[in-house]
Amino acid sequence: MDHFTLKDGIMHAEDVPLPLIAAQVETPVYVYSRATFIRHAQVFKDALSALDNPHIAFAIKANPNLAILRILAREGYGADVVSAGELDRALAAGMRPEDIVFSGVGKTPEEMAHALEKDIGQFNVESEEEGRELAIVAEVMGKTAHAALRINPDVDAGTHEKISTGKAENKFGVPFGRAKGIYMRLNGLSGLKMRGLALHIGSQLTSLDPLEAAFTKVGGLIDSIRSSGAELTHIDLGGGLGVAYRAEDDPPSPAAYGAMVARVTKGWNVRLMFEPGRVIAGNAGILLTRVIRVKPGGGNVPFVVVDAAMNDLARPAMYDAYHDFSAVEPSGKRMTAHIVGPVCETGDTFAMHRDTDHVAANDLAIFRTAGAYGATMASTYNSRSLVPEVLVDGARYAVVAERIKPAAILAAEHVPDWLD
Ligand SMILES: *Cc1c(COP(=O)(O)O)cnc(C)c1O
Repeated sequence: MDHFTLKDGIMHAEDVPLPLIAAQVETPVYVYSRATFIRHAQVFKDALSALDNPHIAFAIKANPNLAILRILAREGYGADVVSAGELDRALAAGMRPEDIVFSGVGKTPEEMAHALEKDIGQFNVESEEEGRELAIVAEVMGKTAHAALRINPDVDAGTHEKISTGKAENKFGVPFGRAKGIYMRLNGLSGLKMRGLALHIGSQLTSLDPLEAAFTKVGGLIDSIRSSGAELTHIDLGGGLGVAYRAEDDPPSPAAYGAMVARVTKGWNVRLMFEPGRVIAGNAGILLTRVIRVKPGGGNVPFVVVDAAMNDLARPAMYDAYHDFSAVEPSGKRMTAHIVGPVCETGDTFAMHRDTDHVAANDLAIFRTAGAYGATMASTYNSRSLVPEVLVDGARYAVVAERIKPAAILAAEHVPDWLD
């Protein structure tokens, strides 16, 4: 459920009419609903209420906007971060250091030191080499790094190949068959306190089966590691729950996910950790755009050229992703169109042969389900602006990320004297 609905024929974000935002902030612009974020955060928490003190770390890469992180911090969420930059954002948003988990295959020694300096809660180490390096960095600093070993359970998440992370050929985690040996060797290194396992098998999962298969494998590994005398107190089950991009999509509910987790993890006797991203943010944001013009196509299908492009919303170009496209003031008429941006790439195509609301030049429209992996992936390709973000709360709104104009980016570039 979200708060982007028609009221008197005009699309609103909560109680703010989108034409108002378009007039005052201009387009393209991301618009987020605070009420939707809060609702999603609470639904996910409620889904885990049968568990003993679960730890929920929002996967910041899904939406790193500072105001969004503040909302989630207030809901008691920690953060899953994958860089020092994300770590600093989580802290700036008011998340507690002990609620921060550091994931990612390429943590540098500098990033490890920075995170140790801030006393974060857990490192998810992705290789024996990384674990050994972390132990040394921590020991030199006189600190102890709390760590989980990320395993690669080799299950097929059944999602787009570019967001699948738990197959043996993916770069993430250590091979399942070697996990116990690595855990035992890292366990007891000075500077390092191994406290459990982590996994994350992919994103936009539309079935619970691969998750259940992976969690079941973890259960066996826990027993096996414990029987060799090592301790496990924390298991991080990652994120990955899918959301509905199309009206007819029916992804598993957080409640069904929570029930499955409770059943599969019964008797593990650990603190469970979660890293949801998309399921919290996806449907809490839209990308508001204006139609520049409608250009006749080669066949009978016109091109609707909008002022948003692949640099603002990369998912269609990157993952062949579907985003619903709707008029802000729909007339009731429909059309079949190709929906494209102005960037000089054929990949700058949001949809082909889309049956959609009829739109004409200057009309406003939205791409739905753009709250996750939207603004965070934006670039300035084609020397376009970096897209701004707006947060709505009831009848008020605020710009929570400014539009960064091409002139500001140009000002950061320099022509060396010796070129003249
Ligand atoms: C991206 C990522 C997540 C979040 O995935 P969602 O599909 O957005 O829930 C969680 N954990 C890790 C390690 C990730 O890389």
